[in-house]
Amino acid sequence: MTGRVLVLGSLNVDSTSYVADFPAPGETVPSTGYAVALGGKGTNQAIAAHLAGASVDLVARVGTDAAATFALETVRGFGVALDAIDQVPDAATGVAQITVAASGENTVIVSAGANAHVTAAAVEAHRWDVAAADVALTQGELPVEAVERLASLSAEVGTRFVLNLAPPVPVSAAALAVCDPLVVNQHEAVALGIGTGETSGLDAWRTVAESVAGRRCRSIVITLGAEGAVSAAGSESASVDSPDTARSSQCQSPRVTAVDSTGAGDCFTGTLASFLSEGRQLSEAVAVAVAAGALSVTSRGTVGSYAPRADLLAFAA
Ligand code: ADP
Repeated sequence: MTGRVLVLGSLNVDSTSYVADFPAPGETVPSTGYAVALGGKGTNQAIAAHLAGASVDLVARVGTDAAATFALETVRGFGVALDAIDQVPDAATGVAQITVAASGENTVIVSAGANAHVTAAAVEAHRWDVAAADVALTQGELPVEAVERLASLSAEVGTRFVLNLAPPVPVSAAALAVCDPLVVNQHEAVALGIGTGETSGLDAWRTVAESVAGRRCRSIVITLGAEGAVSAAGSESASVDSPDTARSSQCQSPRVTAVDSTGAGDCFTGTLASFLSEGRQLSEAVAVAVAAGALSVTSRGTVGSYAPRADLLAFAA
């Protein structure tokens, strides 16, 4: 029953300072709090997929610095194997320097470091792992050549390709075409010309998703924050196996008290990939992913707020 998910992913250490007000240029201010945590969309999604029940290969790069030691120990602590995470000599581990003001606004500076070494050749080196996976998943945080190579390689070896295009960097039409699904939030969708700033509500976004599936990509999922998510699949999607299969769906998120929505999209995407890897229908996987995302916003932190499979299923029921 367990599926296998290969995640080609970014791996960062998030260094967060909390301040009353952002410092002006040239100004030094004291922090009111400080935290160091594991981050990077790919790593977050790999942990979410693992917690949701999949067997996960995380293909990533870190440096040889102290941050790498912290990152590797933390990934292992979540139960994800380190076999496919390479240490790049003399490179720095990716770092996100986050500043959160009392107003709740934040600024983020990302130093890609070793993540920039995730190249097309690095993807090629994992050809047999991609072939052995049920789902290959990546995001927009890595070099575009690597994202595009994973797309084409997945198509070659017959592995389902899932792309969370966050941030919405330009990737080739050929890479988009094999996404099953392309996963974006509503802001990323608009940046890609899918829907407009005026599109609002589950019904309207479902219509937009239906107009894209089978044209720009095999299938698409659009997440809508507290509202939930919509999906649609074209005829080439692995989720369309009979004329009776529902080709689009919408799923309202359960009402929860949101405490911290950081990483909700990553929780959603990792859970989605995990359930697709078991052979679940797209609408079914979206329903569990919506529950996972909603549950993750009810407590602080990113991967620390992701719940294990049994809790997800109980909450989704
Ligand atoms: P991102 O984090 O990429 O911006 P979203 O904000 O769309 O993504 O959130 C992803 C998923 O997490 C949503 O589809 C929903 O299931 C869940 N979610 C996010 N925010 C909330 C919220 N305030 N209440 C309930 N569910 C939420």
